[in-house]
Parts: sequence; structure tokens; C-alpha cells
Amino acid sequence: MTTDVRNVIIIGSGPAGLTAAIYTARANLHPLVIEGEPSSTSDQPGGQLMLTTEVENFPGFPEGIMGPELMSRFRDQALRFGAEIVTERVTRVDLSSRPFGVWVGDPQAEQPTYRSRVVIVSTGARSLMLGLEGERRLLGHGVSTCATCDGFFFRGQHIAVVGGGDSAVEEATFLTKFAEKVTLIHRRDELRASKIMQERAFANPKIEILWNHVVDEVLGTTTVEGLKVRNVLTGEVSELAVTGLFVAIGHQPNTDLFKGQLEMEDTGYLITREGTRTNVEGVFACGDVQDHVYRQAITAAGSGCMAAIDAERWLEAQPHP
Ligand code: NAP
Repeated sequence: MTTDVRNVIIIGSGPAGLTAAIYTARANLHPLVIEGEPSSTSDQPGGQLMLTTEVENFPGFPEGIMGPELMSRFRDQALRFGAEIVTERVTRVDLSSRPFGVWVGDPQAEQPTYRSRVVIVSTGARSLMLGLEGERRLLGHGVSTCATCDGFFFRGQHIAVVGGGDSAVEEATFLTKFAEKVTLIHRRDELRASKIMQERAFANPKIEILWNHVVDEVLGTTTVEGLKVRNVLTGEVSELAVTGLFVAIGHQPNTDLFKGQLEMEDTGYLITREGTRTNVEGVFACGDVQDHVYRQAITAAGSGCMAAIDAERWLEAQPHP
């Protein structure tokens, strides 16, 4: 247990959290970033960019940059200015009185592990799953949410990607570097992905699109051996002989920790006002955890900067030593 009261605790280490760390560190607030712990889902340190491939639209990188490399640079920059980063997972927060309490490890522990005048929430969002039994059972054994992490294992194979947004099309395109064939399974007859991504996929001879289909079952006992897919227009069920399934159907904000304490929308996204303020004074939120509209690395970083400035101004206005 730490009894020292910190100025700023940042929960989450994607572009939003690490930008907030760079700014609050440069303002001499000695922020503590609780970055999360490695996990098989997308809520690992560094956020979703750790699971992405080439980022082509982050300004300042005209040649593009790999997501993990970009996050490593964010992290180095925060460390350079004196941010402290711990690889721990927050298990409980108490935002009912100040200084706020933050627990890692046993959430039942009487005393919080850390106390802080300000908390910046940048816990991001994670991948949605289809909810199929085989999908859960074979996660890491042919089922994946991360083409960058797992694409290499599917060299020369026929694999499937489910979804019709930018994530799905981006993953399908990336996976053609390894796979012999990629079937993109989409439940409608039109992709949601941006035009440029669509055109790239349509032009790729290794990508085949299975329109108006959903996945009903992931087949296989120890690894993926195929998929049972259904045509939603005709009801016809067929088998697709693939050895891998990449699920890319969207995201859910990581806000369970804050239920009952911070105002959120029905979908779980935190509600912010007047910049990055939440309903609790001294608690700010930035990045995908409060943004279901833009959800870009650059907008997350921008809102992380806003949260840092909001926090700094709020702290300055407080009567504390
Ligand atoms: P998204 O835009 O919400 O797309 C989710 C896709 O999955 C949709 O096509 C949706 O179908 C489909 N889907 C949802 N639930 C499904 C289910 N249960 N079964 C089958 N299909 C299902 O999510 P995203 O692609 O992850 O993108 C999220 C945001 O990040 C977007 O704003 C996107 O532009 C951005 N992004 C940008 C880049 C980039 O610029 N490099 C890369 C990745 C993501 P419907 O279309 O029928 O709803």
C-alpha cells in the first residue's frame, strides 16, 4: 500500500493515456501511468494499436509506422519527461471522495494501493466477439482478434475474417501477406469500411468476399478446422474450410471498473463535458473510452492532451500544498 498522495494517476496506456502522461510529466506533475498487463484480448498495455498493423494516417509518418512501434515511441517520450509507468491492472477505484483510491491486485484490500488528487481514465475499448462457443474455446488456437500478432502462423493457409468495417478490411488485406487466400465474411451486401480500404481489398486477388453471410459455428476440437456459415438471405448453411478466423466486428469500452461511479451511456462509453471532465470533479476521461464517433489514434492522443491540460488547470485551482 502506498500512502503518498499522487498528483495524477492515468489508467490506461494507449495514445490517449500516454499523451496525457507526456503533457502532465512536462508540467512537473510526476504522473503515474498504470498501463495494464499483457493479455490475450485487446486491453493490454499500449491499447489497440498494439494489435494493429501499419498505421498510415498518423500525421508525421509519411511512410507509415507499425502500431506497436508507434506506441513504443509514445511510451519512451512519456518516460523521458519523468512519467512513472507500472505494468499493473487496476482492479477497483473509489472516486467517491478525494484523494481518489486506486487498487491493483486484491480489490477487497481495505486500503487502496494508490491515492491521487486527479485520475485520468484512458482505458480504451476492446474487441467485440461473436459469442460462439468454438470461438471462445479456440481463441489463440486458430481464432484471433489480432492479425499483427498471429498472421504469421497462417502462412500459405486459407483463413477467414469476419466483419465489414475498417478493422476487418485492414486485417484481411494485411493477412494476404501470409495467407494463400482470405475470405472476408460480411453480414450485409455493402462494406462499412472507408472507400480507400474497400478499393484496396477489391483489388487484392487473394481476398474473396462472402456477402450476406454470418458465422454460426467454429469447427474443430484443438484447432480451427472450418466454419459453418449461413446465408442470411436464403438461410442456406454451408461449410467453409478455413484454418483460421479473425474476428473484427467492433469494440466495447473498458468501463466496468467505473460502473456506478462515472456517468456513462447505455453502450458503456463514458460521458464527458466541458472538454474531458466526467461527472466527478477531478476525474477526466480521454480516448476511446469516451469516444465512439472518431476512435482514431490521433483523436485519442488529442483528447489525452486535453485531459492533461484540464487536469493541470483543475489542480492549480485546488487549495492543496
Ligand atoms: P465498426 O466500424 O463498428 O465495424 C464493425 C463491423 O462488424 C461492421 O461491418 C458490422 O456490420 C460488423 N459486425 C458487428 N457485429 C457483428 C456480428 N455480431 N456479426 C457479424 N458482423 C458484425 O468497427 P471497426 O471496423 O473495428 O472500426 C472501428 C472504428 O475504428 C471505425 O471508426 C474505423 O473507421 C476505425 N478504424 C480505422 C482504421 C484505419 O483508419 N486504419 C483501422 C481500423 C479501424 P454492419 O456493417 O452490418 O454493421
